[in-house]
Amino acid sequence: MTHLVSAAETVLINGRPLKYRIRRSKRARRVRVQICRSDGVMVILPWRTSLKIMTGLLADWGDWMDSKADELGVRLGPHVKQYASGSTLNILGQPYTIEVRELAAGRKRSRIERVGEKIVMHLNATDVFDTRPVLEKYLRKVARNDLNTRTAYWADRLVLHPQKIIIGERTSRWGSCSPRGTISYCYRLVMAPAHVVDAVVAHELCHLRHMNHGKGFYALLDRVCPWRREADDWLRVHQDELLF
Ligand SMILES: [Zn+2]
Repeated sequence: MTHLVSAAETVLINGRPLKYRIRRSKRARRVRVQICRSDGVMVILPWRTSLKIMTGLLADWGDWMDSKADELGVRLGPHVKQYASGSTLNILGQPYTIEVRELAAGRKRSRIERVGEKIVMHLNATDVFDTRPVLEKYLRKVARNDLNTRTAYWADRLVLHPQKIIIGERTSRWGSCSPRGTISYCYRLVMAPAHVVDAVVAHELCHLRHMNHGKGFYALLDRVCPWRREADDWLRVHQDELLF
């Protein structure tokens, strides 16, 4: 045997995880990279070349690999591009730049921190591949804090108080109100601008008085939230941007 193929390895390049395999070759004189549809990225490594040298080369070739992969339609990174380094995530109308970092040695749990206008994701080797679970957990926390506070504010204004607030996943609706007075919100709502979130909160609270979309309901809502139509339009147009 003149070559040996490794199991898939991962390296972080430009903040994006790259999965590749290594083929050790006795005949190869220099490091080469092949990208193909069936095998993804294969690094051909001369028999005695160290892995460290190879990792450095891969980092240098990051841009080339990106464009080559695009050309071939090969997916190198996470499923959704916007969660790689340099992409933007909006929270309550504020754009944040995402920065992906590898977790410090010895640490296991991924974490996210907001530093100024950046969202820094410190990810372990598993999460670096699919950033969504970590991001979802973070957004749920942001949503719980924000929607509880916002609901309390609007509840005082309207003098209508819910029994319970649930932050969940609603794909078809951003908010809902049960006859028992439980208001549910989709956590992804916090990716919308604040005035849009306010309109959803006001809408659901108005249902505590009118469990329908009748004239009385809209008269009440229009009085406190005259921008509710604009907010509905925004959600209709931008709903795909609130997905991940
Ligand atoms: Zn409604």
